[in-house]
Parts: sequence; structure tokens; C-alpha cells
Amino acid sequence: MKIAIDGPSGAGKSTMAKKLAAVLGITYLDTGAMYRAIGLKAYREGIATTQEDKLQRLLDNTEINIQYKDGIQKIVLDGEDVSLQIREHYVSKLASDFSAVPIVRLKLVEMQRALANKADCVLDGRDIGTYVLPDADIKFYLTASLEERTERRYAELTARGEKCDKEKIRQDISNRDYNDMHREFAPLKKAEDAIELDTTGLDIETVTSLMIKEIKKVQ
Ligand code: C5P
Repeated sequence: MKIAIDGPSGAGKSTMAKKLAAVLGITYLDTGAMYRAIGLKAYREGIATTQEDKLQRLLDNTEINIQYKDGIQKIVLDGEDVSLQIREHYVSKLASDFSAVPIVRLKLVEMQRALANKADCVLDGRDIGTYVLPDADIKFYLTASLEERTERRYAELTARGEKCDKEKIRQDISNRDYNDMHREFAPLKKAEDAIELDTTGLDIETVTSLMIKEIKKVQ
């Protein structure tokens, strides 16, 4: 069973992917975390998105490991656990910028497909149903209003103790959506055969049961 979840930032993809993985006893792969790790490494090394040669060398010399401990996913970048750093707000923009570079996508998509081939799994991202796993057994496209997505991201960041400005978060989410939808290679869009779910105003339990109902139909 392969489940694809796509949609704009803050629509609840990773929350739902984690939940489905736990309920169904399958593996969860957060593909956004991989773009975040590459963005973070390029930033640390002072490499810009336009420096293709340097970026290619970085990709050739980077090891990203996804580990699971008590059901929690850890992202290990060249031996360093960066699970917390990659969640910082500035890394979101880095991930979005570097994800638009084709060589970055080619490398990460190859890794994602290899990981997905190993086990039953749920993947969340922007291009899972359209590009990474076009033959997924079921595809979801989650959305929510910009207002609600801003509130969710604000709550998430403040809960982690990050100081943030709500208006800036709204603007950043909106810019990131624009970038993700308008890049040339594998942009964010709903796959034709994806089930669209607007999660605005819905709690996690309600969305879970809606998704499980759809999954049961294809099981
Ligand atoms: O999902 P998350 O917000 O962690 O993703 C960070 C960024 O990584 C997204 O804004 C997007 O630009 C990029 N991404 C992508 N394709 C994916 C997953 C994430 O381009 N499959």
C-alpha cells in the first residue's frame, strides 16, 4: 500500500501522514524534511541555488538518513541529527528555494522512490501523487484556508519557543505556495486522481476518519 499526500504548506499533510502511518502500521516518509536538510546544508556552506556545480558536489557528498525511534522520524544529515534545526522558520524558505533546482529534486526523488519501494508507506510532500509515486494506491490533496494555515504554523512555532510575527508567517506561506506551484520541474498541483480534502475547521480525528474511509475503499 502506497499513500500519497500533497498540498500547500500548513494544510495538515504531515500531521495526517503521521496519524495514518500509526493507525495503519505503515512507514511515514516526510519528503519536505529532506529538502529542508539540503537547504540547511547549502546555507551552512554558503552555496547559492544558482551555483550548480557546487550544488552538484554537495549532493554527491551528502548523506541523508531517515531513522525511526519510537515511531518518531529523525533526519540525520551526514551523521548529525538535524531534526530540530530543519524545523526553524528560515529553513522553510531555503527548502522551497533549493527544491526548485532540478538536480536537487532528481537526487531526492530517487531516494524517496527507493525508500518507498521497501515497505508499505505514506509519503507527504508537493509532488508525490504527480511525480514521485504516480501509481500510488491512493492520493490525497489536502488544503485549508490561508488564514487557518497561518494560525496552525504560528501555533506550531510559538509552541517550540520561536518568536514570530503572524503577518510575516502569512506572507511567507503565501510566497512558498507561489514558488511551489510555479516552479518548472514537478510543481505542486493536484493529481487528476487525487481526492481533495479541505481541512479548514476540521479536527484531526475527523480528517483521519474521512481518509481512512477512502483508504478502506481501495484496500
Ligand atoms: O513540507 P515542508 O513544509 O516541510 O516542505 C518544505 C519545502 O520543501 C516546501 O515548501 C517545498 O518547496 C519543498 N518540497 C518539495 N517537494 C516535496 C516536499 C517538499 O518541493 N515533495
